[in-house]
Amino acid sequence: MKPFITIKEIQSLLAKKEVSPQEVVSFFQARIKKYDHSLNSILESFDVDAQTINTACATNGPLSGIPYVLKDNISQHGRITSAGSNLLKNYRATYNATAHKRLQKAGGLSLGRANMDEFAMGGSGEFSAYGPTKNPWDTTRISGGSSSGPAAAVAAGLVPFALGTETGGSVRLPAAFTGLVGMYPTYGHNSRYGILAFASSTDQVGPLTKTVYDNALINSVLSGKDEHDSSSLQIEKKDYTKNLTGKLPQGLRIGILHDVAEHEGINEEIRRSFQESVKHLESLGATVKHVTMPHLKYGNAVYFVVSRVEAASNLSRYDGSLYGNRNKDAKTLQEMYLNTRHDKFGDEVKRRILTGNYALSSKNKGEYYNTATHVRNIIRAEFMEAFKEVDLIVSPTSPTMPFKIGEVVDDPIAMYLADYFLVPNCIAGTPALSLPCGLSQTGLPIGLQFMGPRLSEDLIYQAAYAFEQSTPFHTQTPANYE
Ligand code: GLN
Repeated sequence: MKPFITIKEIQSLLAKKEVSPQEVVSFFQARIKKYDHSLNSILESFDVDAQTINTACATNGPLSGIPYVLKDNISQHGRITSAGSNLLKNYRATYNATAHKRLQKAGGLSLGRANMDEFAMGGSGEFSAYGPTKNPWDTTRISGGSSSGPAAAVAAGLVPFALGTETGGSVRLPAAFTGLVGMYPTYGHNSRYGILAFASSTDQVGPLTKTVYDNALINSVLSGKDEHDSSSLQIEKKDYTKNLTGKLPQGLRIGILHDVAEHEGINEEIRRSFQESVKHLESLGATVKHVTMPHLKYGNAVYFVVSRVEAASNLSRYDGSLYGNRNKDAKTLQEMYLNTRHDKFGDEVKRRILTGNYALSSKNKGEYYNTATHVRNIIRAEFMEAFKEVDLIVSPTSPTMPFKIGEVVDDPIAMYLADYFLVPNCIAGTPALSLPCGLSQTGLPIGLQFMGPRLSEDLIYQAAYAFEQSTPFHTQTPANYE
């Protein structure tokens, strides 16, 4: 088997019996062993016995014998699920997340759990209690977060795909920074059951893959109603790979955001790649027009308030009494709660809990939260208006290149600004996909994102596939992982 092999290619080798399922598993386990020490993408890799492999293959499902890793906030029964936190370093999941269950039912095989920013709070992977994940394209740089480990592992070819989670960009940002395809589906498309919550009103599971086809395949497996998650949608199960023709849908109207061109702080090479990508889409037959969404610039502010408020509530359950790594020196119950949270949460998590509780405090009378919710509705309405004029909107995924490790870790505001193009659709609950659209002079991947209206996954995948298949960027791989 060759390095950086895709799911589709593995399936073809398995179907022709050119490799055995055991060989596939051993191939990736050997790559994890060989390369992960330089990346820190995998927190724990699992042994997989012959019987497990045979059972998986006997399902004859769409992922029969295909290995993967899961971000460490996706519950795997009996396994440690730490969410990248010291507070949960010894917590073992008591059940499987629905996403994991669906992959297993389709024949997939979990090879481990992957590194992440603590409780998915971060954009760089540097807020993991287990050290930063490095970018396979340049190991002095971050791989983006919070799904840093899943992205780096797929980008280095340690697994053919991984699941991350997104609340406000955490799949797409690392996808852009490591040259992968990453998708945030419509809110409710995928079940959140068994995902350690950050901000429940935007949290979603999303796949990280080498190609658009593979991504469409995984999201087809994940989708659909789950009785354990009341926010999951009653949608008809669809195979998104079926409509991937390589052609843009006839008459496709693509919107570009008015302020992309003027957006300060946007890296020049990213701006250029974006402009070339738009031209390319036109050459494939799309009509391109500008769309104006005046409230989009408040996306970050809205996300800031909403996500912190929800995080403060969601994380109140981690006080040492029920889960994980309790402080043992406390003399009273109150002290145990306080010490556990004080000692075991990292600074960024504490910062967010504090801001969230501050916004919720009676002194503020709900002012921040209510205003944020109000503007959130306006942004949602602006997306709906925009999607009357155009079918999809494209933008750069990130305004910046992956930072050097340590470069902005002490500057939370700079880090939050990297989410400019990523959070608006999350607060609107609408889908978006990032895929590679260029390579910088220094050899770092650049991402392009397609945003669509609610439940436009099929259309997004068709357009992204047409773009991918007519450009060379998905074939580029980082050096040193042969
Ligand atoms: N960068 C965002 C944040 O720090 C992304 C989080 C996420 O999507 N989980 O909140």
